Amino acid sequence: MDFKQYVTVVEDFPKNGVRFKDITTLMENGEAYKEAIQQMINFAEDKQIDVIVGPEARGFVVGCPIAVAMGVGFVPVRKAGKLPREVLEVDYGLEYGKDSLNIHKGSIKPGQRVLITDDLLATGGTIEATIKMVEELGGVVAGIAFLIELSYLDGMDRLKDYNVFRLMAY
Ligand code: 5GP
Repeated sequence: MDFKQYVTVVEDFPKNGVRFKDITTLMENGEAYKEAIQQMINFAEDKQIDVIVGPEARGFVVGCPIAVAMGVGFVPVRKAGKLPREVLEVDYGLEYGKDSLNIHKGSIKPGQRVLITDDLLATGGTIEATIKMVEELGGVVAGIAFLIELSYLDGMDRLKDYNVFRLMAY
């Protein structure tokens, strides 16, 4: 399947000069969404995954259907102030600014094998912060899966030590 035909490239969003990859048009198409998720499941299948971790909000869009299909749990990574219980917090730099990400303490058990999911790899800041949280909680990052890699931003260089899958590259 040519997945790129379902992604809409939006010029100058969220600011001038950025060519935003809008995946909502892929999600609107049941067949394309299902097939994209299936390809990520195929990547994860032989990795003895115990739990899936994804950053808000599009990491949920990708990670939750994989978790349900594989019969494993899903742990959300969220912006500061959103999770109700005790959290581990990590600062990170984004393509468009700086922020911090939180994960519930105790949400991953030491030794658990984790698949990290997100829609898109840009600079890698979001996923690097997510990896840091998973590893600080004692989890093992067994794989990382994206729909899209922006290969001109070198985010992949920050993930050299990990097993990474991406469906599309721009
Ligand atoms: P990074 O931290 O790798 O620089 O940025 C990746 C994060 O920003 C991802 O969580 C992703 O959802 C969001 N992001 C950055 N650029 C885009 C884009 O062009 N399209 C989409 N859908 N998300 C983006």
